[in-house]
Amino acid sequence: MSHILHRNLRQVPPLAVAASGIHMHDSVGRTYIDASGGAAVSSLGHGHPDVIAAMHRQIDRCAYAHTAFFTTDVAEELADRLVQGAPQDIGGVYLVSGGSEAMETALKLARQYWVEAGEPKRTLFVARRQSYHGNTLGALAVGGNEWRRKAFAPLLMDTVRVGACYEYRGRAAHQSVDDYTAGLLDELETRILEAGPDNIIAFVAEPVVGATGGAIPPTPGYFQGVRDICDRYRILFIADEVMCGMGRTGSMYAIEQDGVAPDIIAIAKGLGAGYQPIGAVLAHQTIVDCLRGGSGVFQHGHTYIGHPVAAAAALEVQKVIERDDLLGRVRSRGATLRRMLGDVFGTHEHVGDIRGRGLFLALEFVQDRATKAPFAPERKLHAAIKAKAMECGLMVYPMGGTIDGQRGDHVLLAPPFIATAADLSEIVSRLSDAVEAALHT
Ligand code: PLP
Repeated sequence: MSHILHRNLRQVPPLAVAASGIHMHDSVGRTYIDASGGAAVSSLGHGHPDVIAAMHRQIDRCAYAHTAFFTTDVAEELADRLVQGAPQDIGGVYLVSGGSEAMETALKLARQYWVEAGEPKRTLFVARRQSYHGNTLGALAVGGNEWRRKAFAPLLMDTVRVGACYEYRGRAAHQSVDDYTAGLLDELETRILEAGPDNIIAFVAEPVVGATGGAIPPTPGYFQGVRDICDRYRILFIADEVMCGMGRTGSMYAIEQDGVAPDIIAIAKGLGAGYQPIGAVLAHQTIVDCLRGGSGVFQHGHTYIGHPVAAAAALEVQKVIERDDLLGRVRSRGATLRRMLGDVFGTHEHVGDIRGRGLFLALEFVQDRATKAPFAPERKLHAAIKAKAMECGLMVYPMGGTIDGQRGDHVLLAPPFIATAADLSEIVSRLSDAVEAALHT
């Protein structure tokens, strides 16, 4: 048995020995199409020569520099690029090693901002029931994923909860989309008023929900409404773009498509595209000015913040995305994949919803399309589809769980941006085989 404690303690997964383009290869000679980019990470595919060369150059020059002593040109250039490409007036960037760290950083930065702004009474975050913001204690506290939280619940800070924007399950048949959205915003405002607006640090949300429901986009106007409410009550808005950001939805930040500027954005996954562990937090100019004019220090830090090899990899990923117009490609390939999924699964009796943005798409499985009744939880359909997909040489990201009292099985697709139309067609064909195999066992 393996000594590694990752994931399932009773199973040892295949041994990955090589990867290139959209393919992963294991030690017994099997090849898998990486249709989920790992967990929506590998946006450029595997083995990208330009990113690898950039990492080599940086390792040769300076593999590590502690931020208490030095900054590096790659970290500075990466921060400059992120500031220039951001959807709001960004005053600064904090580079960390992944998504949970980015979210912890965002939460602490928001809290320290209010302390320095003379409002230390603000201690609460408002977040949505259907959400995942990371596995460290602060991020887990704001996340709404019950099974991930369960064992640790007594250790987690209280969070004000509001409903998810999940049209497929949340909107009643007789309700218009506008009425459904207005209801969600009413609930947000009510919870804020109950908790007391001047006790609240920030509202936290994923612009397109990832790991707790599968590529769920907001309804039109939802985030504009959120922004208005946050402004009305002087509450910060933190967008968790760890999964949906960095081009995955066809714009660099998913929230751009909603025409809204958050105060803080957390990014990770696609930032380093899997070549290095890296995440970042982008903070609005007002926040940075407040700290700069106040204590002058953000009370935070990790040994590997601003790691130069990670920064070099992320910088090159940014350059490749721009040079090869990969955002345009995500939009066109995303439309292609969606059409293909519609052709194969659009009328499938057990597929209730096909949704998402760009190359961030998901299927939701149901026992009964008319009633939207989910499959029995014991069946673990999402896990069965993942297992069958692996047998078919396909990696998909499965999700299941109870959300707002409703259980669902989902499969997320987040293929590399470089996937061709032929690759996408093969992905859909293998997925169809895997789904049928899982449904009939
Ligand atoms: N936030 C979101 C929206 C995520 O999807 C994830 C991971 O899936 C995280 C935060 C945590 O990121 P990490 O796993 O890199 O710590």
